[in-house]
Amino acid sequence: MRMIPVTKPYFTQDENDMIAETLSSGWVAQGPRVAEFEEVIARHEGVAAGIATTSCTTALHLAMTAQGLGEGMDAIAPAFTFVATENAIVATGAVPVMVDIRQDTFNMDTDKLYELIETNYVNKDGKLFNKETGNLLWGIIPVHEFGLCCEIERINDLATAYNLQVIEDAACALGAKYKDKHPGTFGNTACVSFHPRKSITTGEGGMILTNDYSLAKRLRELRTHGSTISADARNKKSGFLLPEHNEAGYNYRMTDVQGAMGQAQARKLDYIIEEKRKRALLYNSLIAEKLPEFVIPYEPENYFHTYQSYVCMLDYSRIGLDSIKSGGEYRNRLLQRLEDVGIATRQGTHAVHMLGYYRKRFGYLPEDYINAYACDHLSITLPLYVRMTDEDMVYVVEMIRKTIDTM
Ligand SMILES: *Cc1c(COP(=O)(O)O)cnc(C)c1O
Repeated sequence: MRMIPVTKPYFTQDENDMIAETLSSGWVAQGPRVAEFEEVIARHEGVAAGIATTSCTTALHLAMTAQGLGEGMDAIAPAFTFVATENAIVATGAVPVMVDIRQDTFNMDTDKLYELIETNYVNKDGKLFNKETGNLLWGIIPVHEFGLCCEIERINDLATAYNLQVIEDAACALGAKYKDKHPGTFGNTACVSFHPRKSITTGEGGMILTNDYSLAKRLRELRTHGSTISADARNKKSGFLLPEHNEAGYNYRMTDVQGAMGQAQARKLDYIIEEKRKRALLYNSLIAEKLPEFVIPYEPENYFHTYQSYVCMLDYSRIGLDSIKSGGEYRNRLLQRLEDVGIATRQGTHAVHMLGYYRKRFGYLPEDYINAYACDHLSITLPLYVRMTDEDMVYVVEMIRKTIDTM
């Protein structure tokens, strides 16, 4: 059977060589390879500093902690995102407050964000407090979903008006642009992921991007158990003394093996994005021609989509169905049949308010975030990777056409 995976990392001999060289150097924990990788990524994205971590989830947690999020506070995040966005908020002891998304961009609906703040929060001396719980609104965690930046300007305006923090979940958005600028340069901290599902990979891994040098310093300390080397110890160059610990930090360090792999991957980043964008355009035209039941991903003007994932929506009305629920059941049957013939697809991501922990803790109903619910049920990620041929893509679209015709 012909097998088409949903994605496949793009490796060459370069990754092998870089890893082998690191192993023979004898230094495998965080060291020079990670520092070089941080520099390469920061330079590529146009930010002052990169702080590598074990994952984007730990990057988010570290950044949130460093920027003061904790108990008695709310942080707003979109309802349609990978669960790690909300989980990181929960890990700090704060309360995640969700806001719905737009179905066309899959990103936070900023009209609904403004509405949420107006209705649920009260302004006391320029700070916002939750009318029900009394929690301080600390800030917003917008997500640049699937490689498309969110409406960051409107979010920043709100943050400025109410003194809110913003940390961008840019897990999928390394290399993405809004008005020719990358996440990490919009005035906020941004966190990227190097999981194999993302544009480039270090196996597991993440990075915080920031233009704030003092924050970068603090993040590096918190990443290493909260350790600071006192000026005295540094001056004496006394290698036998352990550093001072003024804060209870974490061990979120990336290894040098990963740093080396990341450097090899970083050299391919522009090529990978370019190749994926080409294939996204081909999908767009194949789908326009063959699959009127599918709505293709939207790339608004001024935005540069990296297509970390190519995510369509099933238009259930075109197949004669009348609800999100029945559309979702149809979508699942379709994806099962594709899997049966060797074509791997995925739902885009999930509606976090419908996942067990969040549903039980907050008592959410599906329709509380109706667009997130719809995208959860109707989104379809199609296979997309650098070594995918035009012929593979034609095959995928034709198999979907055939499958729908027989359902
Ligand atoms: C992948 C992803 C994460 C988690 O990244 P890890 O590196 O796997 O921890 C967080 N947020 C979003 C939006 C993601 O897509």
